[in-house]
Amino acid sequence: MNRKTILGFVAGVVITLGLLVSVPDSVVQVATGTTQDTSMVPALSPTKALPDRDVYFPGTEDLLPDEMRITACGTGMPSARPKQAAACFLVELGNGDKFLFDIGSGSHERIAAMKIPYDFLDKVFIGHLHVDHYGDLPTFWLGGTVMNRLTPLRIWGPSGSKPEYGTQYAMDRMQEMYAWDIGTRSGVVDFRGGELEVNEFPFDGVNAVIYDENDVVIRSIPAVHGLDGAVSFILEWNGLKFVYGSDTYPNKWFIEHAKGADFAIHECFLPPTLLVTKQGFGPLEALTVGTQGHTSPEQFGKVMSLVEPRIAVAYHFYNDFDIEPEVRDRVRKTYDGPLSTAVDYMVWNVTKDNIRVRMAAKDEEVWPSPALKEKIAPDFRDAINFSEFTLSGMENFPEVVEPLYEEINKIYGTDFKPGL
Ligand SMILES: [Zn+2]
Ligand SMILES: [Zn+2]
Repeated sequence: MNRKTILGFVAGVVITLGLLVSVPDSVVQVATGTTQDTSMVPALSPTKALPDRDVYFPGTEDLLPDEMRITACGTGMPSARPKQAAACFLVELGNGDKFLFDIGSGSHERIAAMKIPYDFLDKVFIGHLHVDHYGDLPTFWLGGTVMNRLTPLRIWGPSGSKPEYGTQYAMDRMQEMYAWDIGTRSGVVDFRGGELEVNEFPFDGVNAVIYDENDVVIRSIPAVHGLDGAVSFILEWNGLKFVYGSDTYPNKWFIEHAKGADFAIHECFLPPTLLVTKQGFGPLEALTVGTQGHTSPEQFGKVMSLVEPRIAVAYHFYNDFDIEPEVRDRVRKTYDGPLSTAVDYMVWNVTKDNIRVRMAAKDEEVWPSPALKEKIAPDFRDAINFSEFTLSGMENFPEVVEPLYEEINKIYGTDFKPGL
C-alpha cells in the first residue's frame, strides 16, 4: 500500500469503530474530518442546552410567586478569605421583596454576583454589631451610590444595654467616619442612594414584630452572644418561615420561636480540637470560644433536634474538604434531620412542597445594572472645592481632555465643557 492508501485504510477503520462502538468524541471528530456525514455528529455530541443544569445562574431564573430563594453570600469566619466571606444571607421572595441578613466582611462581592439592581437591595437586617456581621456595610452603602442605587438604604438592628452599644449609635458614627468619602460625592453624583434609614429596635423583644410590609413579617428574638444586643430574626411570608440566627449560644428563644421553621440557619462553630490544630488557639481559648462564646456542632445538633426545621443550615466555620466531614459527624451525634453545611454561593429554593439545594455559578466579570430611575444631574455648586494649594498642583492636558468632551458631546448631542 502506498502512503495515501494506508491513511485511507486507517481512517476507514476509525470511522467504522466510531459507528459501531463508543470511542472518545475527540477520536471520532478527528477521524471524520470532511469524509464523514456531519449529520452523524449530534447523536454523539449534543448541540442543545441541557434542560436542567443543576446549577443556579444568577439573573437567569424567574422566582415563582410562592417561592423563596436563599443565597449564602457569607458563611465563614471573621476573617474573610477567597472561598468564604463572613456572615451574610440573601433572601428573595416571590413577591419581589429582597432582604439581606447580616453583611459581613467580604460579602459585598457575593451580593454583587447575584446581579440584582442595587435599588432592590435596600433592606439590611443586622443581628449584632460584630465586624464579621456588618463589616461590608460601608462599602455596600457608599459603593452602592456609584453602582446606580438611587434608593435610601434601610437598616434594622438591635439596641444595646446602653446607647453606644446600639445600632443607631453605630450608624451615626459610620456616617461620621466616612465624612470625607461623602464629601467627595457632594455635587458630583446623584447621592439619593447614600441616605440611610436606621431602624433600631429593642434587643430584648421576644418574637417582637420589627418589620411588617407587603405581607412580609419579620420578628426578632434575643440571642446570647458577646454582650446584650445580639438578636436572631424570623421572617414569615406566604406560609413559609425563615429563621436566621446570626451568632448565638444555644438559647430558649430560638428553640421556642424557630420551631417548625421551613428554613433555619444557626451558627455552628469549629469544634475545639480544630480550633487548636487549624487555627492555633490554646486549648482553654478553644473551649471558651468554641463552646461558651459560640455554638459547637454538637450543640447545634441539639438545637435543631428541638426546632425540627424542614432544613437546618450550619454556617460560621471554614468549610473545607478535611473539615466538613468532622463537623457533620459531630452534628450527627445529636441531630439526624435534613442538613446543609453552608458554603458561599450555596442556593436554596424553598416552596411548601420542595427544597432544592444548588450552587450558584458566579460571573467574575459582573457589572452593576443600570439605574432603575432617572438620575438627577448633580448641582456642581454643591461640590466642595479644593484649596488653592491643591489646585496649584493640577497639571491640565487640554489637548487630551477636550477631545474626550467633544467625543461625548458628539455622541449624546450635549455641550459639556471641562471643569466642575
Ligand atoms: Zn459575633
Ligand atoms: Zn460571627
